[in-house]
Amino acid sequence: KSELLQRLKGRKNVTRDGREIEVYANIGGLADLESAIENDAGGIGLLRSEFLYLQRDSFPDEEELFYNYRRVVEDMKGKRVVIRTLDIGADKTADYFNLDKEENPALGMRAVRLCLRRQDIFKTQLRALLRASAYGKLSILIPMVIDVDEVYRVKDIMHKVKDELLSKHIAFGNDVELGVMIETPAAVMISDLLAREVDFFSIGTNDLEQYTLAIDRQNPNYENVVPPNHLAVLRMIKLVVDNAHSKGIKVCLCGEMGADLSLTEILLDMQLDSLSVAPPQILPVRRMIRSLNLSDRRQVHSNIQRVLHY
Ligand code: PEP
Ligand code: MG
Repeated sequence: KSELLQRLKGRKNVTRDGREIEVYANIGGLADLESAIENDAGGIGLLRSEFLYLQRDSFPDEEELFYNYRRVVEDMKGKRVVIRTLDIGADKTADYFNLDKEENPALGMRAVRLCLRRQDIFKTQLRALLRASAYGKLSILIPMVIDVDEVYRVKDIMHKVKDELLSKHIAFGNDVELGVMIETPAAVMISDLLAREVDFFSIGTNDLEQYTLAIDRQNPNYENVVPPNHLAVLRMIKLVVDNAHSKGIKVCLCGEMGADLSLTEILLDMQLDSLSVAPPQILPVRRMIRSLNLSDRRQVHSNIQRVLHY
């Protein structure tokens, strides 16, 4: 391990001109938690909560979910932890869900769609998440959103779960933020409306690339087929950030693009607030951030022009 990278630990992530950018960790479960802490993550920007549901024969119960979520928020010692609700379907399934066989699972009954249809599963997860929120700084993130109505329905269910907890005198945090993943072209195009309803956005470029470019992310040749930093995707990111900021909410980018050091500068020029990357990428991204000077407005302007092409 490079000693220079190790020396970044404990230091602020600031550009040379003083802009602070938080760099969080993407984790798949408790197994990655140590690596996130070891690499000095600013928090957890994305916990893919599917891990507790996969590779088993029946649903995890509320206690098991609660135990795991509580461990994460406690181990992060007050740092922000964003837990994404179940994103099952498509590439991630388990037999006991008894999902219908679908021709195109990536376009099928998955993620928030499934949670809204199978509300028993969703409520159990939300109860465990809310209970864990009493032990640290927990935010809830909803995947694969395409419609404002989905957010209304999620909020409605969340209110019901909170009422149940209150009536049983079970503690939960009173400042749990709710965010949505922006990972479908639909969510991008209505991001101005979504921004009014939630506390933050997280851009999932893995799915956003798949659905925008019509290229299956599971295709073994994916890496070779996807044009790197496609203008369509960059423009979408810019639109989402502008819409979010005009409504006063922050935007994280948690797809693989966030770890592409050749894109760090343009992402920051587009005013992204934070990045969330796999733990081993945290320090290299931080080193890149520290090397940038964004104060040259002319340079920033021309970088943005390059994205917008006018
Ligand atoms: C994404 O889609 O970019 C993302 C971060 O989520 P996942 O890779 O789990 O779909
Ligand atoms: Mg995704």
